[in-house]
Amino acid sequence: MKIKSIHLYQYELPVLNGPYRMAKADVYSLTTTLVKLVADNGLFGWGETCPVGPTYAESHPAGALAALSAMAPGLIGADVLPMPLHDRMEGLLNGHSYAKAAVDIAMHDLLGKHYGVSVSDLLGGALAERLPSYYAVTIGAPDEVARVAAEKRAEGYPRLQLKVGGRAIEEDIESVSKVWEALRGSGVRLAVDANRSLTTRDAIRLSQACAHVPFILEQPCNTIEDLQAIRNQINHGLYMDENCTNVSTAVTAAGTGLVDGFGMKVTRLGGLHPMRAFRDICVSRNLPHTCDDAWGGDLIAAACAHIGATVPPPLLDGVWIAAPMIEGHFDSKNGVNVEGGHVRPPKGVGLGIVPEEGMFGDPLASF
Ligand SMILES: [Mg+2]
Repeated sequence: MKIKSIHLYQYELPVLNGPYRMAKADVYSLTTTLVKLVADNGLFGWGETCPVGPTYAESHPAGALAALSAMAPGLIGADVLPMPLHDRMEGLLNGHSYAKAAVDIAMHDLLGKHYGVSVSDLLGGALAERLPSYYAVTIGAPDEVARVAAEKRAEGYPRLQLKVGGRAIEEDIESVSKVWEALRGSGVRLAVDANRSLTTRDAIRLSQACAHVPFILEQPCNTIEDLQAIRNQINHGLYMDENCTNVSTAVTAAGTGLVDGFGMKVTRLGGLHPMRAFRDICVSRNLPHTCDDAWGGDLIAAACAHIGATVPPPLLDGVWIAAPMIEGHFDSKNGVNVEGGHVRPPKGVGLGIVPEEGMFGDPLASF
């Protein structure tokens, strides 16, 4: 099976009850980029990549479209298999993993349809059908975030992530304490995510002031060197998210004991094929991690759920999807939802998601 044609689309995903507030950005609407791969046997597969605003990561929707447009002519005729396709993409364009991820996801969808199996099966096989998700409580006044935490606890979320940063650290310390009051005794696990925004001084201060609160501290500072600097001065488990941009960094972070786990994004690593390698590294070092993406519609959500299903349950910290903050679905019948704080991978072959015909309009480019 070879690639016969490639079609690129973009589609707007407004944030329901927005903005989605992180330390370095407020986002109101996200542009997702979609790839449709058509094979020489008539089958087709869909992929997606959706940066969550211009400051979260080194990714941008205009860059995704440009990178995909640059690679697409060279992908016509390529074998629909992970190794040859990634090798071909590396030969066409350096970097831009988040754009390559959309091709990788579409390739897995296509391959699953070809063999009549789900993407979870292609990735080694599902170990669970119902997967924990987590809710990201965005930055707000301490009493307000505690109210949201209590609400999400009642909805059944097994884990909450509290965003911090971008303001006086005293306010974050108060937020963490009040959220813990709302969760204490419930068994809900807590992650505190600064999205790279804290100084090493404030990260240490936050951890020491909240030594009584059991949480993991996710990507508190901007660089790997910052994480190394605070590693032995904090009271909490340390997770790497934004800094882990490739499998090589994951090997080093796991191998040197720098981190206790990862928040991981499928598109940042370059798709499901590198994500599978990342999963196996984490399994070999007993490191918990999430299987997420920063934003995106049903195709991304399905990709995250399929890889998440293959992670040994004790190591799966959650599958975060943007669905609760997006109105509607690409596929009204099979779209992925969070129910009782958990998600299920769609049934059916490939990703199990078939976007409704014409919903993305005409392709912006076809090859
Ligand atoms: Mg994070």
